[in-house]
Amino acid sequence: MGGFWIYGQWQEEDFHPVVYELLSVARRLAPRLGERVTVVVLGAEDRREQAETLLAYGVDEVLCLVHPELSYFRDDVYAAVLAEAVRERTPAVFLFGATAEGQALAPRLAGLLELGLTAHCTDFEVDEEGRLVQIRPSFGENVMARIVSRTRPQMATVRPGVFPRAEPVAEPRGLVEEVKLSAVPRSAIRRKARRRLPRKESPLSGARVVVAGGRGLQNRENFARLFELAELLGAAVGATRPVCHLGWISEDHMIGVSGETVSPKLYLGFGISGALQHTVGIEGAEVVVAVNTDPEAPLMKRADIAVVGDATRILPLLIRRIRGIKEGNHGT
Ligand SMILES: Cc1cc2nc3c(=O)[nH]c(=O)nc-3n(C[C@H](O)[C@H](O)[C@H](O)COP(=O)(O)OP(=O)(O)OC[C@H]3O[C@@H](n4cnc5c(N)ncnc54)[C@H](O)[C@@H]3O)c2cc1C
Repeated sequence: MGGFWIYGQWQEEDFHPVVYELLSVARRLAPRLGERVTVVVLGAEDRREQAETLLAYGVDEVLCLVHPELSYFRDDVYAAVLAEAVRERTPAVFLFGATAEGQALAPRLAGLLELGLTAHCTDFEVDEEGRLVQIRPSFGENVMARIVSRTRPQMATVRPGVFPRAEPVAEPRGLVEEVKLSAVPRSAIRRKARRRLPRKESPLSGARVVVAGGRGLQNRENFARLFELAELLGAAVGATRPVCHLGWISEDHMIGVSGETVSPKLYLGFGISGALQHTVGIEGAEVVVAVNTDPEAPLMKRADIAVVGDATRILPLLIRRIRGIKEGNHGT
């Protein structure tokens, strides 16, 4: 039967944001693979109403698999149910968000079905032979590997924030199919209690402007000035891995393969070389500005505006200038 499948992770009152991000990938690539876009949702009761909201995003089909045992996420029973659905309906592609749930589920399903699985893809393409190419940093994160699975469905995970959210379509045409399962395998996991932990949100999540600094800022004091700029611009502060390890800022501000992915409208990088491990985290940035003494630094090549200069001098000047403009003193 085929299909370009997405795992429809449900959380409390809506689908996880990554589901909508994966839909932008599916809508771009499924037509080129000749596949229909399907979101698979597991649950204990009818989620038709919520499932229908997905149709507005250009989904061809929402497949709801329903059984009382699916009332909350347990990777063993969820994987077993999905494995059965995959065997029956033979999708061509199956993508998961690399959330805690997706990262528990996708490998278990791949194991059950003896399939390949590419973790943390940062892009996808369709090659001239009509195959899905899964792209991700590899070999110490120094090269972009292009992976074509030999097994089908081609399975991959994608971290939240890597792709833009799909836009609604003018005329939704998809359908919701609800399948009430008569039995599911018994889970070895039983939930005894449920406690909500305080949600620790990344300081970078949803930022529309990011001001980031690297080792070129020379020391902690210069780096700290990024917070002044961030406050003036209503921005979040990001960092490279070395400066987090130097203790100039906490690791939850790190951008890149080992940290967060950001998709701001504006990213300003001060004293950042632009190693691949960092730039995979800013692929979704609309405008990139880089300040570096070295015009050949990779971030300078990638930037929309590249400023050759000493970031330790330019940063305070910029802060003074913006503060002056805000205070109506345009001459500073
Ligand atoms: C497995 C693995 C995972 C990794 N994960 C991440 C990750 O998630 N995120 C990440 O950021 N890194 C990551 N790294 C590290 C990454 O490879 C780079 O080493 C790191 O991004 C470089 O940080 P940087 O640009 O701050 O420092 P540097 O590479 O030292 O660059 C400093 C830059 O500042 C410039 N400069 C120097 N003085 C000035 C000045 N006065 N004014 C302006 N510019 C100046 C220099 O020309 C240079 O371009 C990872 C590495 C590995 C191996």
